[in-house]
Amino acid sequence: MKFSQLFSKTLREAPSDETAINAQFLIRGGFISKVMAGVYEYMPLGLRVLNKVNNIIREELNKVGGQELFMSVMQNKETWSATGRWDSAKEVMYQFKDAASKEYGLGFTHEEPLTATAKHFISSYKDLPKAVYQIQTKFRNEPRAKSGLLRGREFLMKDLYSFHADQGDLDQYYEKVAEAYDNIFSRAGVKAIRTFASGGLFSKYSDEFQVVADIGEDIIYVNEQENKAVNKEVYNDEVLTDLGWDKNSLTEKKSVEVGNIFKLGTKFSEPLGLTFMDSSGNNKPVIMASYGIGPGRLMGTVVEVSHDSKGIIWPESIAPFKVHLVSLDKNKEADEVYTQLQSKGIEVLYDDRDDKAPGEKFADADLIGCPIRIVVSKKSLEEGSVEIKKRSETQAGLHKIDNFLSALN
Ligand code: ATP
Ligand code: MG
Repeated sequence: MKFSQLFSKTLREAPSDETAINAQFLIRGGFISKVMAGVYEYMPLGLRVLNKVNNIIREELNKVGGQELFMSVMQNKETWSATGRWDSAKEVMYQFKDAASKEYGLGFTHEEPLTATAKHFISSYKDLPKAVYQIQTKFRNEPRAKSGLLRGREFLMKDLYSFHADQGDLDQYYEKVAEAYDNIFSRAGVKAIRTFASGGLFSKYSDEFQVVADIGEDIIYVNEQENKAVNKEVYNDEVLTDLGWDKNSLTEKKSVEVGNIFKLGTKFSEPLGLTFMDSSGNNKPVIMASYGIGPGRLMGTVVEVSHDSKGIIWPESIAPFKVHLVSLDKNKEADEVYTQLQSKGIEVLYDDRDDKAPGEKFADADLIGCPIRIVVSKKSLEEGSVEIKKRSETQAGLHKIDNFLSALN
């Protein structure tokens, strides 16, 4: 991609109404554009990152048997009334009437509609277990939408739901998904700590995946060495005894919940009538779990934990491009470097702009944060070389232009 052709432009200053680091850098870098509080559009650069996050999620969930589907955002009042959430979730769910005064809502999660849909396909123990997921837009009337991509009112969620005949099968699958979550977060470049959190009706605890970060709205008591934590919501002496944890091994930290897994039991299947016939001919409610990740929140969290004063430092796995190629002094050689990188399938953003000073180009490379910067300049070419620097390091090195590719790993 040539920088001169890019749809978005970088900004020197962050908009004054954005206090969160992720929003500041992502807007300045041209990754996202703000529509209103809690509502952002993904520009081509940002969408490249988001798609990489989503594909990591897909790969790991497909490995544990998840099947991707795509549900509707428009929701029936009736489906949500069956569980009582049409009323109880009024504050978070956007609800409205059409011209004929019929009521609708926008999905803020999808337990009810998916349970209703599953009734078409699950009726026997032979139909179980099943696991389906989607990566889709959710709407929530979030009162505090001030954290950039971390708390949107319109945002992307990956939601996975699993259906089981018995608790043992659910418990096993739940652990498999927890492992898949570990893989997803570490591949995306964050350290997400599995955290005991409040469990609601059907299990003692749920599990949150929390990333320690100052911007976080959660408080956890964490043992970073052993990679475990407990959310303040459920933190008390009784719980610590229950877990067998020593209070002194835990430190209080702020954190961002990037994912959440939850045993639902029959909370949705019972009211919505999702049942199956077991092998002895008895009708039973299906046992369910749900598993969420916010891909946008995850992207924002990476920015929160991986940046310096100049900009973002993307992990290669989700960087918009692997290489940021900067051409100075109007040379022809940079074009050849660009062609070579492309022919090797290496993703490259090529700063070919000839109306920008070197300082501006370097500032943009630091702001956008691709893992490797290659500079082709009059000075480097005098040595028959290009200059290569990692975004995460300060030292640049000269590499002969005939075999610079070998320096890229
Ligand atoms: P929080 O307590 O932070 O509001 P939640 O418990 O409401 O989160 P879930 O309903 O479990 O979150 O949603 C699943 C995942 O979706 C969360 O773990 C988070 O990554 C993401 N998510 C939730 N709300 C938002 C939001 N407003 N903006 C962006 N991502 C979100
Ligand atoms: Mg919430």
